[in-house]
Amino acid sequence: MVNEKRLVRQFQKLVSIDAESWQEREIANYLVECLEDLGLEVTEDQGNLVYGSPAGNIHAYLPPTAGGESLLLAGHMDTVSPGKGRKAFVHKNGKITSAGDTVLGADDHAALAEMLELVKVIQEDRVAHSGIEFSISFAEEAFCKGARAMDFSLIRSKRALVLDLAGPVGGVSLAAPTILSIYLDVIGRSAHAGFAPERGIHALAVAAEAIAQIPMGRVHEDTTVNLGRIHGGSTKNSVPDRVHIEGEIRSMSDRRAVKEVEKIRRTFQEAADRAGARIHMQTEREIRAYRMPEESELMTLYRKACASQGISPYIQETFGGSDNNVYAEHGIQGLVIASAMNEHHSKEEWTSAGDMAKVTRILLEMVKLSTNMEYEYAEL
Ligand SMILES: [Zn+2]
Repeated sequence: MVNEKRLVRQFQKLVSIDAESWQEREIANYLVECLEDLGLEVTEDQGNLVYGSPAGNIHAYLPPTAGGESLLLAGHMDTVSPGKGRKAFVHKNGKITSAGDTVLGADDHAALAEMLELVKVIQEDRVAHSGIEFSISFAEEAFCKGARAMDFSLIRSKRALVLDLAGPVGGVSLAAPTILSIYLDVIGRSAHAGFAPERGIHALAVAAEAIAQIPMGRVHEDTTVNLGRIHGGSTKNSVPDRVHIEGEIRSMSDRRAVKEVEKIRRTFQEAADRAGARIHMQTEREIRAYRMPEESELMTLYRKACASQGISPYIQETFGGSDNNVYAEHGIQGLVIASAMNEHHSKEEWTSAGDMAKVTRILLEMVKLSTNMEYEYAEL
């Protein structure tokens, strides 16, 4: 049986450990210790070496006691800032919040507490299962950098639940966008603005001309374009020779996102050509769009698991990414499910004991439903 008090204590312990992105050594140590104490096979990969950051992704495996396919439960160990010196306060109405000066970090430490409670319940109640994998990434909040460097040879499951969605319990997200980042330089030629402006090529004017021609905002019902940062020039009496621009494109269609990038490149190139300037543009694919069918087997199981708790799942559209984008790229079918967090990425972030317990019971039901008992008998 899910032990709500123990679950809250576990959550409070996790919250007491600083875990901002790229500073996950301490939380990783704690998680490895907890998972090993529970008897799981724990591996920390070396994905962090790509970035020179302190902790890798954690993989843990609970070997099966029955037949069937294993299930991957995923979360992330890092939090956004301000996340130093977090404390979790349990209020009379059941809400759990920070002291108000930091995020709570229920994103994603509620999920981690639920996973640890799940293992305890499975072991105490001797729940038969077909193998459960846990994958806990670092630097998820930095565009899934940890998952992108993950050692996927460790993962055997084909199905995953990614516990990283805000909102009421029962929420599920089936799709996420492509996000492309743009880094663009316009390179002109500097000259004294008073003595010899004719000798200069005005990079700022080129950039302004191009930007004025680029539609921004929601350019299509499922696509947004934003140039969000610009800096350049040196002094007020010099023709600026360089302007740097950063932006992003999001789209539920990967192809449309790529098209929008090309439009931006063309517009800047043409403006540069007219003035004799040059451009240098780099794009980085942060995540790739995916869409899970509503009729998938995993979704059917999730519906049943929620129903067992008297909840009907509701499909949530998100326009942000999660580690599930990366799992999808590696052929793993995953659902991003509500993990008992609200108003995340703010100091008002909150969760509750009741919600965390509910999510844990839904996970337990998922484990039971995805265990093929017939197969077990056949093996015996
Ligand atoms: Zn998260």
